[in-house]
Amino acid sequence: MSILVYALHYEGEFNKNSLGAVSEGAKLAKELGGEAAAVVVGGDDLTDELCGSLGNYGVSKVYRVKGPEGLAQPVVDAMAKVVSDNGFKYALFGGGLLGFEIGAGLTARLDAGVTMEVTAVRVEDGQLVAERPILQDSQIVDVGYVGEPGIIIGRLNAFDAAESGEGAAAVEDVDVSFEEHSTKATMVERGEQRGADVNIEDADVLVAGGRGLGNAEGFELCESLADALGGAVAATRAVVDAGWYPYAAQIGQTGKTVAPKLYVAAGISGAIQHKVGMQSSENIVAINKDPNAPIFEFSDLGIVGDLNKIMPKLTEAVKAKKG
Ligand SMILES: Cc1cc2nc3c(=O)[nH]c(=O)nc-3n(C[C@H](O)[C@H](O)[C@H](O)COP(=O)(O)OP(=O)(O)OC[C@H]3O[C@@H](n4cnc5c(N)ncnc54)[C@H](O)[C@@H]3O)c2cc1C
Repeated sequence: MSILVYALHYEGEFNKNSLGAVSEGAKLAKELGGEAAAVVVGGDDLTDELCGSLGNYGVSKVYRVKGPEGLAQPVVDAMAKVVSDNGFKYALFGGGLLGFEIGAGLTARLDAGVTMEVTAVRVEDGQLVAERPILQDSQIVDVGYVGEPGIIIGRLNAFDAAESGEGAAAVEDVDVSFEEHSTKATMVERGEQRGADVNIEDADVLVAGGRGLGNAEGFELCESLADALGGAVAATRAVVDAGWYPYAAQIGQTGKTVAPKLYVAAGISGAIQHKVGMQSSENIVAINKDPNAPIFEFSDLGIVGDLNKIMPKLTEAVKAKKG
């Protein structure tokens, strides 16, 4: 076996991002002349049928571990055991918060090498080489591994989930004794976060909202315009701190740095801490009712007026133009 992939599941379904990692792992393992396996951690809903269905995405074996699902540390324990017992050369994760956390934990536990934010992986001279964008995605670096295992954590949705039609995978139960600290956290509730499935660093178009939106519902104006433009929604820290939008969408000094082709800033004053995260955008369009708002100093196009009137009209105009 050469590659072990973590497959995250909720309520009887595997997460799409994980399925992408599973099929990518299976494809790479084949090119390496080996096989890929998946590891799953959870309760009774992990039936033979559900686990075996990962075979459709190309893995030949699934290691099933009974334990708390959706928490990072128990998965680190499970994967550390499966890797050590079976001598996997690589461990692969789709992106997402849990993938990042488990991948980082496994790296520390196994004293391994890790590459994060990977957008592609290839086989070269019988080894995996991970490709990772740097400098605001303007350059790609190739990362190889000198020791084992090599840990690869993909960007969110970097890998496509492709069914290979290879039938059910074999399921093997593995007993894992969890570390004491691994079972200290419990899952209290699980909810969907708005915009959490989009990686805003990859979007060509971002419609960002600030305090000028008035309240959390105001973000519907940004979402409609972003939908019409085929883009994603971003936010300032002021609105993230107010709980109007998730932190994953925050742009700026304490958030993400982006450089899309188009950045629409709606109801954003243009504070320096926000500016540093978006000033490299190719085109900046600002909508603000205050003609003296600092955002206009670094915008390519400024619209002075009430966003509640302007944004719906802009959305309609974009839709009409697109036919
Ligand atoms: C250490 C530190 C780190 C920080 N990190 C970040 C960061 O990472 N990202 C970040 O964004 N901020 C960050 N901040 C906060 C930053 O200083 C600003 O407070 C924040 O960016 C302001 O957010 P805003 O533009 O949404 O709100 P405001 O500054 O309140 O601006 C709202 C704007 O909306 C306009 N407006 C109001 N109503 C309407 C309307 N109806 N139509 C049109 N326009 C309207 C107003 O004229 C105003 O310009 C940080 C601050 C500190 C001290």
